[in-house]
Amino acid sequence: MADWRNPPRLFIPGPIQVKDDVLKELARPTLGHRDKEYAQLHGEVADMLKKLLFTDQYIFLSTSSGSGLWEASIRNCVAPDEMVLATCCGAFSDKWAEVVKDCGRNVETLKVEWGQATTPELIDQKLASGKYAAITLIYNETSTGLMNPIYDISKMMKAKYPDVLVFVDAVSGMIGQPIHFDHLGWDVVFASVQKAFGLPPGFTVAAVSRRAVEKAKSVPAKGYYFDFIQWAKAAEKNQTLVTPSIPHIMGLHYQCTKFVNEGIENVWARHKRMGDFCRGWAKQKFELFCEERYASNTLTTIKNTRGINVAEVIAAVKKKHNTIFSAGYGQLKDKTFRIAHMGDITLDEVRELCGWIDEEIG
Ligand SMILES: *Cc1c(COP(=O)(O)O)cnc(C)c1O
Repeated sequence: MADWRNPPRLFIPGPIQVKDDVLKELARPTLGHRDKEYAQLHGEVADMLKKLLFTDQYIFLSTSSGSGLWEASIRNCVAPDEMVLATCCGAFSDKWAEVVKDCGRNVETLKVEWGQATTPELIDQKLASGKYAAITLIYNETSTGLMNPIYDISKMMKAKYPDVLVFVDAVSGMIGQPIHFDHLGWDVVFASVQKAFGLPPGFTVAAVSRRAVEKAKSVPAKGYYFDFIQWAKAAEKNQTLVTPSIPHIMGLHYQCTKFVNEGIENVWARHKRMGDFCRGWAKQKFELFCEERYASNTLTTIKNTRGINVAEVIAAVKKKHNTIFSAGYGQLKDKTFRIAHMGDITLDEVRELCGWIDEEIG
């Protein structure tokens, strides 16, 4: 019987399990969001995020899920007569392209097959036309477990298209994989906290360039809730535009403190070790869905080459161990399955889960 008070341990690629010590941090006494105590909390979190993301530009804390920033980046930084190039390689990047349209902006897509990477060469061919003001990129495509070569893409963009604004969805990548925001020359990057930050859902962290905030000044009808200009004014006072989800920010403080103390390079390495392990297991028993050099370090999408009944295996592991992993996303439902290895999930836990799957598949 399902019981929300005793849920399964989550190895799905979001939300992921949150450890008890982290949960406790969300239960601290609340603060007045215009009071000094709040500004102190906000300032400390923003300073840590600047270190973790290698930026001295804006850090915004958004009381929204990550999808809010899909919309915010477009509504703030793209004028109605401009054209966006949306790169698409799976369900989440496809969705962002639709959101650009929903925001009333012009969009063209650069599509590759699910499981394929978006390469600098493909982007270069598109941008050479000179008609795009901005590009949307996905760091880690959670539907396919693919990590795009965003450092190579960014290097090419900086050299050849420095005026094109760069918006990056790093929802399932941030913290688990490197982001040197200023060096990469990006304008907006964001991640909801229910992925590699290891927090409950409903909150998003973003880094935004000064250039993006400047651009927002000339873009009409940005709306109120996601207005970067208002956000920047508030951030300068270590505040947010509206009352934020303060418990989330307390949780973020706890998590960011851990990441800073561990050293962010070590955090990335820890995720890579989990990725290496999971890929090794997957290759032994099945196949990887994407090419190994583009495989994500925060989740693995495994090709169901043995024709197992994915739903049955998930149900069996759930029944015996109160733990779940994920079926494939959308059109990949039975053809793949996904295991998350990010946030506070440990290598030992991933190993244990793979062992449980082994018991089911024989
Ligand atoms: C989970 C996810 C999203 C959606 O995030 P929400 O917080 O649910 O809005 C967007 N993009 C990627 C890559 C994701 O993994």
